[in-house]
Amino acid sequence: MIMAEKAKPWYKRWWAITIFVLIGLIVIGVLLTDEEDQISQDALSDTGDFKVVYSPVKNQDNLEYERIFKEAYIFDGIAEGLNSELILPYNVIINLTECGEENAFYDPNTKQIVMCYELMDHFAKVFYDYSENDTDLGIAMLNSMFFVFYHEVGHMVVDIYDLPATGNPEDNADQVSTLILLGADIEGVNALLNGANWFFIKSEEGNIEESAFSDIHSPDKRRYYNILCWIYGSDPENAESLITEWGLPEDRALGCEEEYNRMSNSWNRLLSPYLK
Ligand SMILES: [Zn+2]
Repeated sequence: MIMAEKAKPWYKRWWAITIFVLIGLIVIGVLLTDEEDQISQDALSDTGDFKVVYSPVKNQDNLEYERIFKEAYIFDGIAEGLNSELILPYNVIINLTECGEENAFYDPNTKQIVMCYELMDHFAKVFYDYSENDTDLGIAMLNSMFFVFYHEVGHMVVDIYDLPATGNPEDNADQVSTLILLGADIEGVNALLNGANWFFIKSEEGNIEESAFSDIHSPDKRRYYNILCWIYGSDPENAESLITEWGLPEDRALGCEEEYNRMSNSWNRLLSPYLK
């Protein structure tokens, strides 16, 4: 861990864990709720659930992450929230694991969302210089992880419901993550802004290489502005700070409400048959 020699690691502070519990619980239970648009459908039977699996871990830091996730009931709570919202034809595994790399992905072959503990180390490194104390850092790490997790949920729903999708699947997954987190009120918006911040900080690190444009993922700064635009578009009257403080250009902001509404309506139509 990068901060090990500087201070007591954030995950050793019990009071910080209380905050994690709060954040975890706030995000749960407010996912994808748009009851007006729900239509009943019985083509798909609800015979599956999200299941959290803690794969065996050797690395000491990863053991600490595992302990915190378990004690704060973070992914178990998220799974409970998703199970109360989504009709699943089979189990989807949320696999908390040691990967040997900083990563998270959805595997369509095994129907698993794989969340690597190393990703938390990555967030620790990214946000360390921008955090005032361990609690701030812990919250930034956890919020960014929420953004990534719901991004993977975005890939998952397209796969298991065989949804029609055009355009870039990575942008689509960012849209799903944004919509889910916007449903979690201010805590969700904070998580989204953390996700956006992650892309911004990464985009400021050195030169942009050609691969930024050829990659399936949109360039980091593009993802940053997309997220800002969608947050802004969801509530333009109360989101002036995204222009004045976060740097969303006025000319992009002009179209964000329409962009958000179209995106939100489209996903609601696509997902409503699969909501409980
Ligand atoms: Zn992705």
